[in-house]
Amino acid sequence: MNVASDKIKQIGIPRAISYYNNYPFYYGFFKSLGFEVVISDKTTTKLINEGSKYVVSDTCLPIKVYVGHVVNLLDKGCDTIFVPSLQSTAFKINNCSKIRGLPEIIRNVIDRDFKMIEPTLDKTENIGLNDFCTMIANDLEIFDENTIKSAMKTGFEMYNNFLEMTQSGVSYTEALKNALDGKIVKKTVDIVRPISVVVMAHGYNLFDEHISMNLIKKLEKMGVKVYTGLNVAKDDAVAAIKNIGEFQYWANELDLTGTAAHYLLNNKIDGIIALSAFGCGPDSLMFQEMEYHAKEKNVPIIHLTVDEHTGEAGFVTRLDAFVDMLIRKKRLNAVKKQKMGEKLLPSTNPNQFLALKKYGQKISEKSVTTSNVQM
Ligand code: SF4
Repeated sequence: MNVASDKIKQIGIPRAISYYNNYPFYYGFFKSLGFEVVISDKTTTKLINEGSKYVVSDTCLPIKVYVGHVVNLLDKGCDTIFVPSLQSTAFKINNCSKIRGLPEIIRNVIDRDFKMIEPTLDKTENIGLNDFCTMIANDLEIFDENTIKSAMKTGFEMYNNFLEMTQSGVSYTEALKNALDGKIVKKTVDIVRPISVVVMAHGYNLFDEHISMNLIKKLEKMGVKVYTGLNVAKDDAVAAIKNIGEFQYWANELDLTGTAAHYLLNNKIDGIIALSAFGCGPDSLMFQEMEYHAKEKNVPIIHLTVDEHTGEAGFVTRLDAFVDMLIRKKRLNAVKKQKMGEKLLPSTNPNQFLALKKYGQKISEKSVTTSNVQM
């Protein structure tokens, strides 16, 4: 049943901020209400430059990117744009002020004629997902409760399918495509890679290939198994924050501290990569906490920051050096323990050890001694 408002046919969704974690829900919800969903183009340097023109220069990169995506939708002729205000996602679990105030930012910086759909989610104030969805529907002149509930159900189905796939190890892009096509394809076999790292980062930094400079693909090419927030169930991330002795304050903390802590406590990783946008306050607090816990567990951690001026060459050099150090460290430990007849590291299974030896041959011309393994 097409119940879309007579005047509005298309809803524009900026490919930024909450898009990366929630798009399957948004897509299913709006489609079920009878609207065509239009997403902005992928992030490019031109799009970032466009967004940067509207905000003060010390605004963080993801917000500049968000503004650029709104402008991109307007330039495409889409004049109804979804800009949610995600205040708190659980009681006293907050988003940063910029994410909370996104509708205000957009209203005040973009002086063009368009309609904003701007629902609020604020669980601290008892404004939950039902209210959030009702606000959207009412703004689109849909008032029938059953229609709204049915659209929420469709949204949840797509969202849950998406999570089921990412938690089984399917990549972000593949899981998103399958979820939108109404399919579930889980991962059953995994390639054995010599080392594993967890990337602690907001979805909007990590899965935007332009912002992260394709970090995941680069790591995989270097022989690294990569874990992200999308591989961890919410309850496990919440438990990990508690088990590591911290408490959750930020809404995005599950993708950062929760994810890193989960893999650190399970001894599943050889290193942690913390990726953040330059000048992000919440991230710097979370990274500092994690640095402390990583040091306690003797797991190396690197902090990579990005802004609109970050050059790919320097980024890759730092990444390369970090991965090389992790491989050398693990290989030395594994060889030492094998010689002494001890058990391998908890994160080294026998197949991984073979892969490690194979990779080690590639770097064997350089002298591998304990002195060039840094922590
Ligand atoms: S959490 Fe950090 S990067 Fe994200 S919008 Fe807020 S300040 Fe920017």
